[in-house]
Amino acid sequence: MKITKMISQNRRDFSAEYTCEGCGNKEIDDSGYDDKYYHENVIPNKKCNNCKESTITLGKPIEPQVTKYPEHYVI
Ligand SMILES: [Zn+2]
Repeated sequence: MKITKMISQNRRDFSAEYTCEGCGNKEIDDSGYDDKYYHENVIPNKKCNNCKESTITLGKPIEPQVTKYPEHYVI
């Protein structure tokens, strides 16, 4: 899954709309955490509820988003 729209963000917690690169399914998930680890490791492994594939299992390029706040910045 990849983020297609940020819906809201409170400090580093965010809600976003994700789209599956495989089947195009869109999902809203409010458990996002805006740090480098989440963008590079959690989202690429996030499985689509429709086809059960993730960015990794589909072999798609990972395109991490830039975090809103710098990595070690205390909000
Ligand atoms: Zn899918």
